[in-house]
Amino acid sequence: MSLLKNIMNTLPILILLGPPGSGKGTQAKQLSKSLHYHHLSTGDLLRNESKKETILGKEIKAYIDHGELVPDETIINILLQSLRESNNSEGIILDGFPRTLTQAQLLDKKCGVKKTIVFHLDVDDDTIIKRIIQRRVCVQCGQLYHLEFHPSKKPGQCDICHGKLEQRFDDKEVIIKKRLEIYHREMPLILKFYQNHGILVHIKGDESQEKITESIKIKIAKKLVE
Ligand code: AMP
Repeated sequence: MSLLKNIMNTLPILILLGPPGSGKGTQAKQLSKSLHYHHLSTGDLLRNESKKETILGKEIKAYIDHGELVPDETIINILLQSLRESNNSEGIILDGFPRTLTQAQLLDKKCGVKKTIVFHLDVDDDTIIKRIIQRRVCVQCGQLYHLEFHPSKKPGQCDICHGKLEQRFDDKEVIIKKRLEIYHREMPLILKFYQNHGILVHIKGDESQEKITESIKIKIAKKLVE
């Protein structure tokens, strides 16, 4: 069996779906800390790649800056490479993947996923827009802040590593609207796919972060003893 199939067949996989700003990243970080699961954010993987001054890096940056999805083939290759490096963890959390039906089908086909649970964080567009335009991120460690609901102690500076806080270029209102449009075009197909596999769990994404983490953990515990 290939290393990848081995990893995917033995480790629990959590897939976090939801619109941009629905809290997938925050939940993934929290769950990764408490469950010792490996957190794979495709947005982070792509942003790291885009910082490299390569042709591929520049292409990826253009997609991200315009709020467009990176082509399926590119993201799948990047993700599979990272998955191969995940075999020392107790499970894997996919944050931001899949974003198209093709990605969902390919993940299913390539990895033969057995212990997968898919969580869909449901948040309405108005709440998303309000959340994202006030979102700030540490350029050094990636910690997220919100100017109103979760401000840093010192304006513009990360509480954890003292890095500079910035607004992501694609967090501007016009680009968020584009990202939401793509999300509403692609996500129903993905949800239907996982619904048909019987592994989809809907979570109300407008509860407190702690409550959402708890609901997710309860579902995981139930699923893993089935
Ligand atoms: P995120 O940090 O998850 O909001 O992702 C930021 C951007 O990265 C997205 O708007 C897309 O341009 C790109 N991206 C992230 N994940 C994917 C994916 N699975 N497929 C295609 N593009 C992606």
